[in-house]
Amino acid sequence: MPTNNRLPNYINGRWQNSTAKEFTDVTNPATGETLSQVPLDGAGDVAAAIESAAIAFPEWRRTPPEERIQFLFKLKQLLEDHLEELARLITMENGKTLTESRAELRRAIENVEVACGIPTLMQGYNLEDVARGIDEMMIRQPLGVVAAITPFNFPIMVPFWFIPYGIACGNTFIVKPSEKVPLTMRRLFELIEELGLPPGVMNLVNGAKSVVDVLLDHRTVRAVSFVGSTPVAKYIYARGSASGKRMQCQGGAKNHVVVLADADMETTTQIVSDSAFGCAGQRCLAVSVAITVGEAKHTFRDAIAASAESIVVGSGLEESSQMGPVITRASKARIEDLIATGKSEGASVLLDGRDAKIPSYEQGNFIKPTVLENVPPGSELSKTEIFGPVLSLVHADTVEEALEILSRSLYGNAASIFTSSGAAARKFRYEVEAGNVGINIGVAAPMAYFPFSGWKDSFLGVMHSQGRDAVEFYTEKKVVIERWPKQWSRKF
Ligand code: NAD
Repeated sequence: MPTNNRLPNYINGRWQNSTAKEFTDVTNPATGETLSQVPLDGAGDVAAAIESAAIAFPEWRRTPPEERIQFLFKLKQLLEDHLEELARLITMENGKTLTESRAELRRAIENVEVACGIPTLMQGYNLEDVARGIDEMMIRQPLGVVAAITPFNFPIMVPFWFIPYGIACGNTFIVKPSEKVPLTMRRLFELIEELGLPPGVMNLVNGAKSVVDVLLDHRTVRAVSFVGSTPVAKYIYARGSASGKRMQCQGGAKNHVVVLADADMETTTQIVSDSAFGCAGQRCLAVSVAITVGEAKHTFRDAIAASAESIVVGSGLEESSQMGPVITRASKARIEDLIATGKSEGASVLLDGRDAKIPSYEQGNFIKPTVLENVPPGSELSKTEIFGPVLSLVHADTVEEALEILSRSLYGNAASIFTSSGAAARKFRYEVEAGNVGINIGVAAPMAYFPFSGWKDSFLGVMHSQGRDAVEFYTEKKVVIERWPKQWSRKF
């Protein structure tokens, strides 16, 4: 691969070649074709990005919120105008279908729209006469330089849980995209260039662990948002907190759905199938374990296997495809190994998606939908995040037992129930330990104006992503108490 195919960084309003010594290939998961090369290191580049963001901050924070959001209105329009082009790029480097790429772009745009409300959302509050002649107010101010470190599975949506709010609140920003899918951010920054933002307000640095470590240790960076796997989330949370930063770290997941016999089985099956196998199971809200209760065991089992088998697997660029490949060859091998582990632990394979052959895409990382049943509770497979198109079936005799199985999970990202019973749904909503709950919903993804976050090992931090929580995260509260009387009201 020629060196001119190496991805540059965007620092201080200019494209700059990375000073990295190490690069890795960015590949198309459907074809195995090398698309580009991405830098893995370059501590000096990160330091330059931090410096440029720090220099840009004083002027950007003084820019009225009303003026700041004009850039976001323009960004929304650019995203709308380039939606198809961006969707193709996401599909090329991530593998998901075009429909899925368009959907993720829609949620990214929705976050821009919500952040356009910053002049209202960022307001504080005040009260006159907290004592005679004394007024008190709470104002929100931006933090300074902030950064986001993002995963491969949503190349544009996840960065947009953070970027629009961060800059609308008056912070300056550094994005470190996943090295597996850096091309979408590269193209996004070309669009950002068209906005005419002051240099240094938005910066892009490519890289992996060593680049992240500089962001985590540098005292100028005031806050870091992370989305990725739980072990990395824990590491990043601890290291960033140690240098005094505000941190929010979204981790991995193992999402359960509970299916009761009184659910509308046809719709339930379609929705659960879409949740488990959409984006090839590489969604943090994907269903991984379906717990059937009572009679649902029989009705659901056959229907879900049939639905899974009917999914058309192929290149995401072909409109006929309903499911694309998984991200890397290593990921495919890991998922296939986990299926084998499940089998050796006593699960039976109802539908085996291993050794998938997709004509004309022999080099792609394809696994077809896989359904395992009688997965033993407490087994490796029942606990591990698979992050692939694999659904495990587990059975419980009662809703209480289903909730008990669910409560044993280390993760708490999402959980759903399918039922026509209000009482069962209410019990589930009340008791389940998860941040995103679906009642007859398969992928309980909050709209941009609601907070997004998991519980337990799926999240470390306090303030969630999106909406009002994002405004809270990206601002510091300051309380001012004022006295301007002609006559001092206080007697000494
Ligand atoms: P990952 O943890 O491997 O990588 C995420 C980011 O961290 C990348 O930018 C990567 O370069 C960086 N990174 C990786 N290892 C690092 C290290 N040792 N030190 C510092 N930085 C490091 O995650 P991934 O494979 O890109 O994404 C899939 C994971 O993300 C899954 O576990 C999924 O559940 C999770 N995810 C969670 C949510 C959520 O909202 N909770 C959303 C999307 C994805």
